[in-house]
Amino acid sequence: MDQPLLELKNIECRHRGVIAVENLNLHVNQGDLVCLLGPSGCGKTTVLRAIAGFQPLHRGEIRLREQRISYPGYTLAPEKRHIGMVFQDYALFPHLDVCGNITFGLRNLGKSECKRLANEMLEVVGLAGMGDRYIHELSGGQQQRVALARALAPRPELILMDEPFSNLDIDMRERLSNEVRQILKQQGTSGILVTHDQHEAFAMGDQISVMSEGHILQRDTAYNLYHSPANRFVADFIGQGVFVRGTLVSPETVKTALGTISGDRAYEWDPGTEVELLLRPDDIVYDPEGALQGKVLQRAFKGAEILYTLQLEDETEVLSLFPSHHDFAIGEQVTVSLALDHMVVFPL
Ligand code: ATP
Repeated sequence: MDQPLLELKNIECRHRGVIAVENLNLHVNQGDLVCLLGPSGCGKTTVLRAIAGFQPLHRGEIRLREQRISYPGYTLAPEKRHIGMVFQDYALFPHLDVCGNITFGLRNLGKSECKRLANEMLEVVGLAGMGDRYIHELSGGQQQRVALARALAPRPELILMDEPFSNLDIDMRERLSNEVRQILKQQGTSGILVTHDQHEAFAMGDQISVMSEGHILQRDTAYNLYHSPANRFVADFIGQGVFVRGTLVSPETVKTALGTISGDRAYEWDPGTEVELLLRPDDIVYDPEGALQGKVLQRAFKGAEILYTLQLEDETEVLSLFPSHHDFAIGEQVTVSLALDHMVVFPL
């Protein structure tokens, strides 16, 4: 197999002597879009800054195109790495027009070549014809596209994005993350996106690395993170759901207050092990013939669906997603059944 474009091997970064990132491995192949997803303070930005060359390494090494660009005592300067960067605040120059911003770093190109490249990049990011506007004459989403065009203009193989859509409203965020994904795929540019927003990560990444306290806990597709979380942190952080206590009675079966539930996975712990079973809102479905009764505690209208918080007869609270036409008021009783595709349990 080809060598990865970028490889982080057991890196450790410290701030004022305190470990922020520890024993972290990450690779990005040519054309991959990888997201680092995790809560505030988990070390995402530190990893990105280490890749960019702004953060020295205390241990480990970083290789780009097989060249060692960072190791303890050595950090290749950021401008020599040929990596594109897009930041949260866009960092655009207000005194330059859009074309001037896009070609700012390309001093060795002639004027007409700059113009041609800027126009080409504007075409790529969907802003054709806006080259002579000033930054204050653009919306937030348009400014973010200019920042992307500027990062793409020197044709880097790798582009780093730190919370690039966080200043935009939710609709725009999801739309732009999809669009940026398409643009990077079209250009064959690899990307690393740092975000705490899982929807952004789902929209953008081929693979998502979930981080907590300076470590990567799981790297997987969005589907697998949701349906096969490797540990309780990932299960809790990705998607919604509740944990219900139970006892493993066989490798594939758990006894809970909601009944005895069997799944498609075998767990290796001994029968009798106390476990927690993950129940996602889509695991509990509206079913007039169902065996479980629940009282509506809360409801959140989501358009096509309504997310209900239900209190079952044994007082367990669960979340359940009903198609929107099954409209129940707070306090009403509803009948549901369990429809688990995958059984996810963790030992207590
Ligand atoms: P956020 O999503 O809030 O940006 P993050 O996951 O990107 O968070 P980092 O910015 O990498 O996290 O920070 C990781 C840890 O290192 C945090 O505990 C933070 O307080 C600490 N840290 C980051 N930068 C510095 C610094 N320059 N000096 C001291 N501590 C720092």
